[in-house]
Amino acid sequence: MIDLDFNSPVQAVDLPVLRQYDVRLYIKRDDLIHPMISGNKWRKLKYTLQDALGQNKRTLVTFGGAWSNHLLATACAGALNGLQTVGFVRGESHIQNPVLSLCRLFGMKLIFVDRTAYRDKPTLFADWLTKNAYPDAYFIDEGGYSTVALAGCMEIIGEMTTDPSIPAIDHIFCACGTGATLAGLAKGIDKYGLKSDLNGIPVLAEGQFLDREIKNLYPEARFALHTNYHFGGYAKTKPELIEFVKYFCASTGILIEPVYTGKMLYAIIDRVKSGKFHKGSSILAIHTGGMTGILGYTDQF
Ligand SMILES: *Cc1c(COP(=O)(O)O)cnc(C)c1O
Repeated sequence: MIDLDFNSPVQAVDLPVLRQYDVRLYIKRDDLIHPMISGNKWRKLKYTLQDALGQNKRTLVTFGGAWSNHLLATACAGALNGLQTVGFVRGESHIQNPVLSLCRLFGMKLIFVDRTAYRDKPTLFADWLTKNAYPDAYFIDEGGYSTVALAGCMEIIGEMTTDPSIPAIDHIFCACGTGATLAGLAKGIDKYGLKSDLNGIPVLAEGQFLDREIKNLYPEARFALHTNYHFGGYAKTKPELIEFVKYFCASTGILIEPVYTGKMLYAIIDRVKSGKFHKGSSILAIHTGGMTGILGYTDQF
């Protein structure tokens, strides 16, 4: 397997508000792992790919919305490892956008399905298997959600513990879609005995349901979900979020987008301003990547 073996760097961020409240912010730059297999998508795919290859599977079958970072990551990681890829896309008609074009460029076969059919992925997979001769197909759930995916996410914590340049961290933050990355971080924190608390920012409305999804993957997980930073729901934005993303990119040179990392960093800064962190405390934000998401918002910037 072609492994993107790369300890992503941790970068300190300096903003006036952080100085004002005497809080330190560090960003784990998982966005630098790979431009297409970015951030947590690589973390989740790493052991999933190993599992598929170990079972002699030659075709990866997975699921996602039209702007899915996971579909793109799977398409590219599949091509990199000589595997065929099939992506079920949520949405009846043949949607065109840059992310789906990139998926096709990496050879992914796209199948568009309506929202009702999309809900039952195991059935979609089984029906498709009976109609198509793919005995070597390997099922990967939406967003790469699975227990196999946790081991890769745990390595985010493992890398931190072996890097002497990283100070002791009090609070770790991560954006949540399926919650798989947060579950892996929780498991990593336990494995490596970190004292840090773990905070998830659901990027979709009514994110409390993620509690169950996370514990489903790792029952012992200890974390807090801050559910009021979704800005109206998945991929929804508000002017203050767009303004924040612009401000952050221009002030730090670190690219973030409004779907995931923008909401997470907005939440962190909002909580700094409301005095949620003690003076002198340090925060680590996981930059989970997903830069192609910005292509859906170019009219905003
Ligand atoms: C997919 C994605 C997430 C969500 O990860 P989960 O493991 O599904 O919670 C967060 N950030 C970015 C940039 C993503 O692409």
